[in-house]
Parts: sequence; structure tokens; C-alpha cells
Amino acid sequence: MATHREVGVGDFVLLDKIDLDHFMKNLEMRFRNGYIYTYIGEVCVSVNPYRMMNIYDKDHVHQYKDRELFENPPHIFAIADASHKVMRQQRRDTCIVISGESGSGKTEASKIIMKYIAEVTNQGGRSEIERVKNVLIQSNDVLEAFGNAKTNRNDNSSRFGKYMDIHFDFKGDPIGGHINKYLLEKSRVIYQQEGERNFHCFYQLLMGSPDELLKRLSLTRSPDNYFFVKQGRSANVDSVNDRMDFKKVENSLKSLQFSKEEIDSLWRVVGAIMHLGNVEFSTDEDKVVIPDSRLMNTIANLLKVTREELTEALCERVIAAHGDVMRKEHTKTEALYGRDALAKAIYDRLFTWIVDRINSAIAVTDTGYNKKYDSSLIGVLDIYGFEIFDNNSFEQFCINYCNEKLQQLFIELVLKQEQEEYTREGIEWQNIEFFNNKIICDLVEAPHKGIIAILDEACLNVGKVTDEMLLEAMDEKLKGHKHYTSRQLKSTDKDLRHKVDFKITHYAGNVVYYINGFMDKNKDSLFQDFKRLLYKSSDANISKMWPEGAQHITEVTKRPLTAGTLFKNSMSELVKNLQNKEPHYVRCIKPNEIKSPSNFDFERVKHQVSYLGLVENVRVRRAGFAYRQRYDRFLKRYKMISPSTWPSFRNGSDRDGTKQIMDEYRFADDVKYGHKKIFIRSPKTLFALENKRNE
Ligand code: ATP
Ligand code: MG
Repeated sequence: MATHREVGVGDFVLLDKIDLDHFMKNLEMRFRNGYIYTYIGEVCVSVNPYRMMNIYDKDHVHQYKDRELFENPPHIFAIADASHKVMRQQRRDTCIVISGESGSGKTEASKIIMKYIAEVTNQGGRSEIERVKNVLIQSNDVLEAFGNAKTNRNDNSSRFGKYMDIHFDFKGDPIGGHINKYLLEKSRVIYQQEGERNFHCFYQLLMGSPDELLKRLSLTRSPDNYFFVKQGRSANVDSVNDRMDFKKVENSLKSLQFSKEEIDSLWRVVGAIMHLGNVEFSTDEDKVVIPDSRLMNTIANLLKVTREELTEALCERVIAAHGDVMRKEHTKTEALYGRDALAKAIYDRLFTWIVDRINSAIAVTDTGYNKKYDSSLIGVLDIYGFEIFDNNSFEQFCINYCNEKLQQLFIELVLKQEQEEYTREGIEWQNIEFFNNKIICDLVEAPHKGIIAILDEACLNVGKVTDEMLLEAMDEKLKGHKHYTSRQLKSTDKDLRHKVDFKITHYAGNVVYYINGFMDKNKDSLFQDFKRLLYKSSDANISKMWPEGAQHITEVTKRPLTAGTLFKNSMSELVKNLQNKEPHYVRCIKPNEIKSPSNFDFERVKHQVSYLGLVENVRVRRAGFAYRQRYDRFLKRYKMISPSTWPSFRNGSDRDGTKQIMDEYRFADDVKYGHKKIFIRSPKTLFALENKRNE
């Protein structure tokens, strides 16, 4: 009995009493005893252990392979296996949605899942499958190098959203994949808060590249020499080994079939961005000039454009008015703005190009029996977690909105539909209350009166609309909304420090956003001159990143969609995509703010458990039923355990046959019979049935 107590219960539905208190006690006890995974039915709750655990080796893989959830202690392997099994046996697309705040362990979880899938597949040892598995895993190194960074929340924080489809053939072996990325936080390229870093790749290049490469890029080893990578004053991170990571990335790039020329282009772009950050402007007779022409030479060489054209693009712009083409000199502010916009855009394009290149390396080749149309897939979603910083800007706004959408999906699929199914099946049911965050999603995304729509409208007149005016427009339309506050509406709120702050009460907590820069980031414009400049680069890879540079200045361009609207659209597409798949959930929890393996910050964890709706999840699950199955399927699986149903049941419907078995084993109290499905309350009953079957 003593050991039982220390382990607590492996599934929260088995708690004696279901409330926040009991939930927390169980979670803490398990964490303190080294059990980081606990189920709520088929949902896996994972607490970041902040230490290496010996639970991911081959023995464990073996232990979980082809088993049912309840046969083994809770583990993320079991979720991966369940997802793979459904996909393989029912030929249904599945997905694993991993959510939780920044630093809670989502990216690690996604890697563990990939590793598990790689371990259990390709028993036949086919070499093409081996190659696919390797490149799928190695794509991670590259994406993390260019898309992750140290933040004040997490040393390896994902600064882009990632959704990866893994395609499987009819044997269940991976034959390829596809990555969708979502909004990269490109402002990080030019600015880092105290304690943070730029994307890992910059430091990897400086610390890890061979002397020869560094010299070719005219770089020195010290990050302190480059404005764009030194602002956070924390280039060295204990938990990160940039030198080794550089080698890893180089290897992975090769495995992913990046050519030598492509790898060369890639590092030249990264180098050029660092140099670009050091470009300064001064004024000479009211004209903006760049005093350091050697620096301009270096950057031009790296980007393979001419120095003259680069300088021109940085100091002035070409405008077309009434068919005439004119040049207009920048002010110093405009020049600086242009420089930063250029750096961000180059990096963003580079990242997109990298993802595209990876996608072509991992694409399913439509040959032989690997045809895409008869493959099924598992989608793994690992996106940036909910975050609150001292300064929250447009990026946090998007990231947190994205987390609202995922929470909404969880509510729809796990809390709402589950209860609707009971009603549909005619099962007596006491509704369970939960907070539905749809109202916050609407606050952000509703047409005409949501924040994104209001922001878009302001962006039609960027330059004329001030931050104050934008906030006024928001106040006007959002007045009275329970989840929105701004200084203009509520002058006493101490959270709102700036006049142009507004606050959203997110499902996961209050976040104050500083509206300064929102319009700019939403509009996300870049002087045409830069696009034409880079399109003309004699480096084919760089030129390819800027196709619209081919347009002539006088060609009218349609107003492009704003960053906010693009993001909103991509989120709605993502949700639609996930809804069509059989979902599995991993809910990640961050035990403390100090990355400690032994600290369980009770209040912080309690907060997460609350906003994730985990206790409600247990209630729905338990007041509900741990297991349900269509009668025909149930009978097919268990008819062997009763002589009256084996080899087939002849005295009535599948429902009657099912009832016959349950009565025979005296499980009647634990069961409800719906119109089409049997509902079993306790996993123990199922366990007993499975045991009978094995006998
Ligand atoms: P973000 O939203 O910022 O991207 P995240 O949820 O993806 O955050 P991770 O990067 O996965 O967080 O985890 C943060 C750190 O926690 C990891 O770098 C690692 O040190 C530790 N960690 C997380 N999960 C595990 C695990 N299962 N075993 C050991 N360490 C872990
Ligand atoms: Mg992450």
C-alpha cells in the first residue's frame, strides 16, 4: 500500500474526490517522486522535470510498443503509440496537440514523440525509410537553430509555431512529412530585451564556425561587436553549447540535402544581418549618408549586390506618382527604420526558404506503393506557449491569441463535444460548468469589432493614425467587454503603466500590451527598393527569396494583407485542419520559474491547472465515462470471453450481446447503454475485460 500512496493515481479520474485540492496533491506527489506524466483519460498531463530522466530508452520504447494506455504507467510514449495505432489500424489521420506555457516542455515532448515513432517503425529495415526518419529528426536541429532563442522564460524558446505532418505508408512506416510554420518573431532580429538573445544561429556562427568561414564573412568571434546580437547582454547561456550546435546544424543541413552553395548563401545572409546592425547614418548637408563605406562593401559582397545600389536603397527610396518615377531621400529616422526592416525581412525570408528547402527534402515521393493518396498521417503541433513579459508587444499578442485558439479547440473537442455525445446517445447527464474562452477569441478576431479588424483599419492610414487614436477606436468598440481594459476606460488600473497600454484578460491570465509599434508590425511594410535590390542579387538563392522584386516600380500592387490578418487566417486554417483529425492531447505544465528539478511552485502550478481547465476535464471524464465503444466493435473484441457470445451472438442485437457479457461479469453498475455505444465508467472495468481476454 505504501508504494501506492507515493505514486498517487496515474489517472486523475481515479481520485477519491475531484477538486482542485486533490488534483494538486496528486500532481505534486507524483512530481516529487519522479512521475512526470499523469493521465486524464486519454489526455496526458506532463510536468517539466528540468532534468534528464531515464525513461526514454529502448527498454521503455519496448515496454510501450503496441500496448493499451492502461497497461503501463502513464507515459508520453503511450500517447504516441495510441496515435500511431489509430492511424495504422483505422487508416485515420490523427494529431497530437501539445500545449502549455512557454518553458513547459512542448518542444521536448514533440521530440520525444518523434523519437518514439522513429524507434517503433521500419522493423523491416528499409533504407529509404531510415533516411526519412533521419531527416525528419534532423530537421529539428535546423529549425531550432533558426527559429528558437533564449528568452527570459526559456533558454530554448520556440519563436515560431510549428505543425508537422508525418506521412505513413500502409505498414505504418514514415515515408515523409511536411512542416507548416507560423509567424516567426522577427523583431528579435533587431532587438532583444535584457537577458535575452537573438536566434541561436547567430551565436552558433560566431562561436562554432571554422576560422576560414568567419574570415570570409568578415566577422570576429565576439558577439559584443554586433549590435543586433548583443543587446540582451547574455550571449553565453549555460544550458546551450553554441560551438557544438553549429556542427550539429552543419551536419543536419547536409543530411537535408542543402548543397554547398546553399549552405554558403545561408551563412552569408546571417553574417550580412549582423553587419547590417552596425550600419550608422549621419547627415551631410541635410542628406543621409553612411560614413563607413568599407562596411557597406562587406555587406554588399555577402548579399552579392553592388555597394552603390545597397547604399542607395538604405538612404533613399524610389516613388512612383502619377506615372512619374522620383527619388526621395530618407530622413535619418527613416533610414534607421529601413535598415531594421531590411534586417528583419531578410531573416524572415531566409527562415521561410529554409523551411521550404526542408519540406522538399522530406516530401513524400510519389513512387511505387508510397503514393501520397493512400498514406495516413500524424500531425504534431508544437507552437510557442502563452507568455507574459515586462513588455508585451504585437508578437506576444499573436502568440497569446494562438494559445487562446488552441484552448478553444480543446474545449470544443474535449469538454463540449464529449458532453454533447452523452446527450446524443441518450445518456442521463449532469452538465459540467467550465469557462469557455470563445469570448476572448472573438475579442481578438471578430470581423469589424475585433482587435485585429480595428488594427487593420488604423493601418489603412498609418502615419496619420497615432497610438492614442488607435486606442480610442478600440475603446469605442470594445467598451464594456469583460476581457478588455485600457487606461482611457479605467484610469485607476495600476497594471497599465503607459498611456497607450491595454489589457486583455486571457484565459491564462492578464497581459498588458504596449500598443506602440502595433500598427507598424501589423502593416509590416518594406520599401520596394529593398525587394528589387535583393531580387537583383547575383546569388541565385537570395534572389529566389525575393520574387516580387521582379515587379517594376510603376506596377500597381494590391494592398497586401496585414500580419495580423494573415496570422488570424493561418490560425483558423490550423484549427480546421486539426478538427478533421482524431486528436490526442499533451498538456504541459511548468513546475517553477527557476528551471529547478526539485522546486514545485504550488501556486504557479495551481494557476496553470486552473486555466488549462484540467479539473473540469477530469469531471467531464469521470462523471462521464472513461471508455466508450460502438456495440459492434465492442462485441468483436470481447465476444471471446463469454460462451454465449462466442463465436457469435445469435440472440439479439450487438447491444444485447454487449449487455450479455457485462451482466455475466457483473459490470452492469459501471455501464450505461447509449443508442449506438456502450459507455464504461471506470478504466478498471476495461482493464478486467482486457485481462479476461488475455487469459
Ligand atoms: P516555448 O513555448 O518557449 O517554446 P516549450 O514548452 O517548448 O517552451 P521546451 O523548450 O520544450 O519548452 O522546454 C524547456 C526546457 O525544459 C528544455 O530545454 C529542457 O531543459 C527542459 N525539459 C522540458 N521537458 C523535458 C523532459 N521531458 N526531460 C528533461 N528536460 C525537459
Ligand atoms: Mg518550444
